Formats: sequence, C-alpha cells, structure tokens
Amino acid sequence: MRQKEISSNIRPLKPLDAASETHWNTPLRADAFDLSDDEKIERIEKHIREIMLTLGLDLTDDSLNGTPKRVAKMYVKEVFSGLNPKNRPHARLFENKYNYDQMLVEKDITFYSHCEHHLVPIYGRAHVAYISGGKVIGLSKINRIVQYYAKRPQVQERLTVQIGKELEAILETQDVGVVIDANHMCVAMRGVGDTNSKTGTAYFNGKFKDENVKREFLNFINS
Ligand SMILES: [Zn+2]
Repeated sequence: MRQKEISSNIRPLKPLDAASETHWNTPLRADAFDLSDDEKIERIEKHIREIMLTLGLDLTDDSLNGTPKRVAKMYVKEVFSGLNPKNRPHARLFENKYNYDQMLVEKDITFYSHCEHHLVPIYGRAHVAYISGGKVIGLSKINRIVQYYAKRPQVQERLTVQIGKELEAILETQDVGVVIDANHMCVAMRGVGDTNSKTGTAYFNGKFKDENVKREFLNFINS
C-alpha cells in the first residue's frame, strides 16, 4: 500500500528520442533537469528513507536520522553531479604557441565513479593523451573532465569514450587516447567476491590508432 503511494508520486516520463542521442551518451530522460537540485534532494530523501525503513532500520536512532537527507544531497551535489550539464567544466584553451607537436600525457588521474548496475563504487586511474592540433588545454581541465564524467552512474567503457569524445570536441582534434584501469566494488564486495581483479579499457582515435603512437602512450603510462 505504502509502495503504491510512493510510485504514484513519480510522474510518468518520456525517454529521450533515441535517434537524437549517440551511443556513448548516458541514457537520460527528456525531463532529466526539470526538477531543481533541491527538489531532487527532497524526492530522493523520501525514497532512501523508505529503503531504510523497509530494511527494518529504526530511523529515530540519532545515528540514522540524518542519513536519507545526507545520501540524497551526496547523490545530487556530489557523486552524481556529473549528470547535470550545468556542472560541465568550462575548458579554457590556449594557442599552441611553442609549436609542441608531440603527445602530451597526463597519467594517474584518480577518479571515483559508481557502477550503474549496482550503484556501488568504481574507482581507478585515468590516463589521457592528446596531440595538439593547434589548441592546448590546461592540465587541471583534463582532471575536471575526468571527474565530471566519473560523477555519473557509469559503465567503464562509456566513461572511457565520453572522456575521449569530450577532449576531441574541446581540442578540435581526433588525436586523443584514453586508458582507464579501475576496481569495481560490485565485483569485489559481492557476486564473485574477487578483490584483486582490475578492469582495463581504452579509447584510441586519430593518430593514436597508429601502433607506434599507441605504444609511446602506453610506455608513458607504464613508466
Ligand atoms: Zn556493478
């Protein structure tokens, strides 16, 4: 009975027109940003409360009392804040005045994401490289782009491609490479319970499809 009440609170929503979306986009609904952050927090808080109550937890306990609100805020403002385009980092670009024509590699960018199948953490390191086609990006912006796409429910493959595509669009070049190695808590703490396995994904485009360029990038990562 209670459950029925809750689901009736949720307006029926239409999915985005699939044709307007590309395969590497996060599947979002057409009305994804109709609600304000505060409205989302309020709504999520109710649902987290309901989950906890259903699990049998006593929410009058001091320690548990603030959890629904805390989780709701964390979802909207922190760990899933990368869903909202308003949080997309503004990339300041520079002209490549020094005519540096070799690859630039930024490796070991630590990120924390969530697997979209279980909503438990994926964490790891992203390694990003590009060869300037005339534009240069501030290094911290590469970090911010990684964090932006990590702060979504993700699959590692999509995260890898989204970072690559974003850099291509910003830098106006296809010469971009991204490698990610990550730990999936859904593999470590449940299911098969493998705590040692890591997952690797890669995105190579433009000159990075060339074996020599690829090898140079991978050598940087492994050095
Ligand atoms: Zn998972």
